[in-house]
Amino acid sequence: METKIFGCRRESLALAREYILKDDVVAFHTETVYGLGANAFSDEAVRKVFALKGRPADNPLIAHVHRDYDISRLIDREPPYAAALRRAFLPGPLTMVYPSAKRVSRYVSCGLDTLAIRVPSSPVAQAFLWEVDLPIAAPSANLSKHVSPVTAQHVYDDFHGKIPLILDGGPCAGGIESTVLDCTGEVPQILRAGLVTREMIAEIAGDCGIYAAKAGERPKSPGMAYKHYSPRCRTAYFQAEERAAAIGCYQDERAAGGEPIFLCESEICAALAPYRVLDLGETPEEMARRLYALLRNAERQATLLIAIEPKQKDGVMAGVLNRLHRAFGVIT
Ligand code: AMP
Ligand code: MG
Repeated sequence: METKIFGCRRESLALAREYILKDDVVAFHTETVYGLGANAFSDEAVRKVFALKGRPADNPLIAHVHRDYDISRLIDREPPYAAALRRAFLPGPLTMVYPSAKRVSRYVSCGLDTLAIRVPSSPVAQAFLWEVDLPIAAPSANLSKHVSPVTAQHVYDDFHGKIPLILDGGPCAGGIESTVLDCTGEVPQILRAGLVTREMIAEIAGDCGIYAAKAGERPKSPGMAYKHYSPRCRTAYFQAEERAAAIGCYQDERAAGGEPIFLCESEICAALAPYRVLDLGETPEEMARRLYALLRNAERQATLLIAIEPKQKDGVMAGVLNRLHRAFGVIT
């Protein structure tokens, strides 16, 4: 199968619709990362997404809808705080988990009685969702465990010959996956940190928790239990105050004939001038935007990628640190 990469034009949207109605899978740009989309009402189409990614069968997908789609068709009930959050943040990088009305394929939520819904703000995603006027079940468009894609080329690298079409919207401005928020309880709870932060949610909803799975309990967001976002090279991870040890690690790799590269924020990069570095940037937003492209870049060049943790920890950095820890296999 030839994999076409098309911009968002009338003909490519019509083609995308054709594929979706045939239960094929189409990759599309969003403001966070590229998605791998299928008709959420079709068992066959949704199962294709799992098969293509090699995704574990207990890691549910997010239903993406356009801004005027009536989500009351898909969910059982919505607490008042969730309606307020929708008005404040959607369309945008916030996924909301509701009690499901069980109208979409049971494979979307992997047997959970909840459904995750997202309204992306990317104009390409909106045009695609309008064209099909269906909920589109989509995870990130990467092979399971690999780094999430933030360009059409990244999607192509993982899926060429396996999907018919990628709707190209250029590089993703957000760069990390959406915040996933459980809206089934009295107080919203963050299941996955992202660009919509706990502080932003609490300002609208009055309060916002952060979910931590209890021992022995099935996690509410099963996807968060897996190692994720990993570059295909060896990795090492250091705190900012462990810089001397990180340099030792770099020098050992060089001495052994390897190709080490540092990954760190701009300020630390400047201090590591004689060494090979990949610069995450200065602000949390910049680090979110650059992270995945740098991880994919690193795996092509480095035998060992050495991260030094940025100093800032809260707000948007909570999401960036979560992805960094997962990519480097750091247990928190
Ligand atoms: P991805 O789009 O690849 O980032 O994966 C979707 C994320 O949303 C995963 O972390 C899932 O665990 C989470 N998710 C999807 N549906 C649900 C749900 N019904 N309840 C909790 N988390 C969900
Ligand atoms: Mg993913």
